[in-house]
Amino acid sequence: MVQLKVFSFDMDELNEELEGPASDEKRFPANECPECGWETSELYVYAETQEQAHKLIEDNKAGKCGRCFAEMLVTKELEFIVSSTKGKEKA
Ligand SMILES: [Zn+2]
Repeated sequence: MVQLKVFSFDMDELNEELEGPASDEKRFPANECPECGWETSELYVYAETQEQAHKLIEDNKAGKCGRCFAEMLVTKELEFIVSSTKGKEKA
């Protein structure tokens, strides 16, 4: 079984790190979701590690706005197995 985590990336930071097709171009010129074209401040990716998640965005293989990400969770019927106790109420 592969354990995946969800990572979020700030669009402005991605634009500073990644280049568009031309070297003086921003990767996401209008901070648009690659999936739906909506303006968004974050892209969400699921992966095993933060590095892998970043690479997936770099290679154009993943990265969606919150709305598209949620839509994907619904349509793929993904299940979450929560292993962290963070945020749990104290008994
Ligand atoms: Zn989207």
